[in-house]
Amino acid sequence: MPSDTTEIILKGISGAPGICIGKAYLVDKEGVDVIEKYAITPDLVKKEINRFKSAVTIARNELSDIIKGVPEDLRQHSGILETHLLLHKDKMLYGKAIDLIENEMINAEWALREATSQAKSMFKNIEDPYLKSRSADIEHVSERIMRNLVGRKDVNISNIDKRVILVAHTLSPAETSQIQLEKIMGFITDRGGKASHTSIIARTLEIPAVLGLDNATQIIKNDSIIIVDGSQGIVIVDPEEETLIRYDELSKRYETRKAHILRTSDLPATSADGHPFTIMGNIELPEEIVAVKDHGGEGIGLFRTEFLYLGRTHFPDEQELFNQYREVAELMAPDPVIIRTLDINGDKAITAMSPPEEANPSLGLRAIRFCLQKPDIFKTQLRAILRAAAYGNVQLLIPMISGCEEIRQTYKIIDEAAESLEKEGLAYNRDIPIGIMIEIPSAAIMAEEMADLVDFFSIGTNDLVQYTLAIDRVNRHVAYLYNPLHPAVIRLIKQVVDAGKKKKIKTFMCGEMASEIINLPILLGLGLDAFSMAPQSIPGIKNIIRKISVKEAKIFLKEVLKQTSALDTMQLITDTYGEILANGTYDENKDSA
Ligand code: PEP
Ligand code: MG
Repeated sequence: MPSDTTEIILKGISGAPGICIGKAYLVDKEGVDVIEKYAITPDLVKKEINRFKSAVTIARNELSDIIKGVPEDLRQHSGILETHLLLHKDKMLYGKAIDLIENEMINAEWALREATSQAKSMFKNIEDPYLKSRSADIEHVSERIMRNLVGRKDVNISNIDKRVILVAHTLSPAETSQIQLEKIMGFITDRGGKASHTSIIARTLEIPAVLGLDNATQIIKNDSIIIVDGSQGIVIVDPEEETLIRYDELSKRYETRKAHILRTSDLPATSADGHPFTIMGNIELPEEIVAVKDHGGEGIGLFRTEFLYLGRTHFPDEQELFNQYREVAELMAPDPVIIRTLDINGDKAITAMSPPEEANPSLGLRAIRFCLQKPDIFKTQLRAILRAAAYGNVQLLIPMISGCEEIRQTYKIIDEAAESLEKEGLAYNRDIPIGIMIEIPSAAIMAEEMADLVDFFSIGTNDLVQYTLAIDRVNRHVAYLYNPLHPAVIRLIKQVVDAGKKKKIKTFMCGEMASEIINLPILLGLGLDAFSMAPQSIPGIKNIIRKISVKEAKIFLKEVLKQTSALDTMQLITDTYGEILANGTYDENKDSA
């Protein structure tokens, strides 16, 4: 009999790694796509506003119930849902919608849709993919209110009673957090990206997920057999027998390797020839500390502090920041917590309605540039950090430094913050290590001079690659050129590490480059001291470090430096380390070659 060749391969974005095979379950969310706009008479304005308010109240109550039922494993993410709860009453959504009903005398649905699109446009212009994806939060909150406005039912994932793979147009973090692992094997969505909270939750749950498939919900039928390869970002619909056998085997091997590597996550990251490395975790929220500890992280190497500044009408006050930083410092002590100061153009965070007018936001008034122009906002954060430093091993990290002068200016403000705390008699610690992110080529080139001014370097490869190769990190048209193994990037990193060694300061790496195992032989050969990454990447990286000899990696580096392209470099890595890397990772067909 001829083999059935009806299998369809869909390509999306890898949301969370792993492989699962099972029956599709289409989450039949009744989206509210068609909204009518109609005018209301002045005497009905009040009634319309009340109708809107009660839809918000029901939406909030629904979400509160979901938060109460969040399973233990996901508690660390309930902060995201709490944020959603706050967003329901946020000025840019709630306030704006009421404004529109009142001033334009239009129906609540239309007002909500309008307020939502204005709020989303504020995030659209932010170039950081993490912050950009926060517009999805607004959409999820707005969707829930809209459903209540038009009287549609919410999808209840916790009611699913068979073992399936979810297929949805989109899944909100609230819905994702209702996933019960014994029933849901994995999920796929038409929408969403790698930095969305939905995918962050999927990685925490450690179930395979593929996002951004565009039209999976139209192609896949309920109960069809599908294979989800979350590592490759692939979905295979109605697979042929051969494909099924192959993936079944791959999936078993993946699980065995993963279980083995996870069991070793608490072992130190000491290279095969005895060099110890510190492996830390990157976090955005205090809740993520659990994941860092569970995966064997030895500190927080990058605490991105933007979250508290987002989607709000005012900047957070010192006490709020202090409470958060202190909590993280205390939970991690005695391990280090490296707090990075604000890396955003704050105007984007507060003036919800006016998108920034910069033509090139990533080359604009961002991070330290913004902070130095707004010393009051900066000082508030610095005071909170110095105060938290009295409660743990806190270190300070300054983003987007492009020259020595910015470091000197920063110190001035740090000193002023410390002096004001001293005067007020508040507990604080000024005597903490202060480092800079090396993510702009000018900083890498000036590393030796900069090393005289700071206590450590942390290389941010996400931006360093973008600025060195002139590739917008969120522009998919040039994504094919984005490669940290470009010889120019490797040489710049070498220059930084060498400068650090000469001046006796440590060099860390906290960009994504540190979490991809294919880069490790080079990074160990270059002599970096520590790495920080997403918590889920820690066990795999520690595992590979234990298999590599630094002495050999240094010899290997000499060959690497002779290469003239990223492709040649990758080939060299595969030829020399292919076997070690393939044996040391969960995914034998990913990252290793
Ligand atoms: C980086 O640029 O590598 C980095 C870690 O910072 P972010 O991704 O937050 O810009
Ligand atoms: Mg950066």
